[in-house]
Amino acid sequence: MSTIAFIGLGNMGGPMAANLVKAGHRVLGADVTEAAMERHVAAGGQRAASLVAAVAEADVVVTMLPSGREVNALYLGEAGIIAHARAGALLIDSSTIDVDTARAVCKAASGKGLAMLDAPVSGGVGGATGGTLTFMCGGEDETFARAKPFLEAMGKTIVHAGGPGNGQAAKICNNMILGITMIATSEAFVLAEKLGLDAQKLFDIASKSSGQSWSLTTYCPVPGPVPTSPANRDYQAGFTAAMMLKDLKLAQDAARSAGAVTPLGAGATALYGLYAAQGEAGTDFSGIVNFLRGT
Ligand code: NAD
Repeated sequence: MSTIAFIGLGNMGGPMAANLVKAGHRVLGADVTEAAMERHVAAGGQRAASLVAAVAEADVVVTMLPSGREVNALYLGEAGIIAHARAGALLIDSSTIDVDTARAVCKAASGKGLAMLDAPVSGGVGGATGGTLTFMCGGEDETFARAKPFLEAMGKTIVHAGGPGNGQAAKICNNMILGITMIATSEAFVLAEKLGLDAQKLFDIASKSSGQSWSLTTYCPVPGPVPTSPANRDYQAGFTAAMMLKDLKLAQDAARSAGAVTPLGAGATALYGLYAAQGEAGTDFSGIVNFLRGT
């Protein structure tokens, strides 16, 4: 059993912390919202007296925060994680943030002799609850090996993507593919409608042809062909348009910073920005098909 400080007990962090509790660890939870703290205690976790107190006695610190801004503030501040972690502690950030911040925070941690891994996830709230998340990890080999047993308590697929920041790089590259293919798939269904081609027929053909993708076969943006896709429940969010927009913006920032040419990523960012601005930020990202249809 290890003592784990878990900071950020929201939609994802709450169930992830609960799975660490189930695996037999002592999990000291910290969050700025009281409701999140109460859920953590109800799941068998302990309430941290303060962030500093929790970090100071933890073998492992896990963070699951909204964005790079919070990660920066909580790791690098004077009352922060790096300043107060005990010698030999392992730091794991599972938030989705920009690559540059991930690398800067990891560098600051190693400057203090602390091992740190960026380990963003895919799999959503369902994966967090079921302990089936995919972790994409960036960090030294030894850090990855130390973190793996803890990540296995929260996820099913744990991949080492390379050095510091490479977990975040993998996450935003994957989600850029997802955003672009969802728009491409949606455009094809809208075109099919105009051409009098039945949606199910397009699905049956494209899912066995070169148009196949996860956006089509697992998350089909029109109702019918894939009964579990959000299109069948009025686009109630599994993954919101706001979250897709966040990840596409991170990919664009990274592309600018690295000098990569990503015109379709830029187009997808603009389209999701327009879609979200129409009051659809909380709708599932596959609902962009309705925006493209003009409804
Ligand atoms: P969330 O907003 O539900 O949770 C974030 C939690 O952090 C909140 O409970 C908030 O109160 C807490 N927090 C914020 N500032 C804090 C501070 N200074 N100290 C302590 N706690 C603080 O968000 P989420 O959906 O759990 O997502 C967390 C991260 O995971 C994000 O980076 C997101 O992009 C990523 N992610 C989310 C999903 C998803 O489907 N929700 C999927 C993959 C990745």
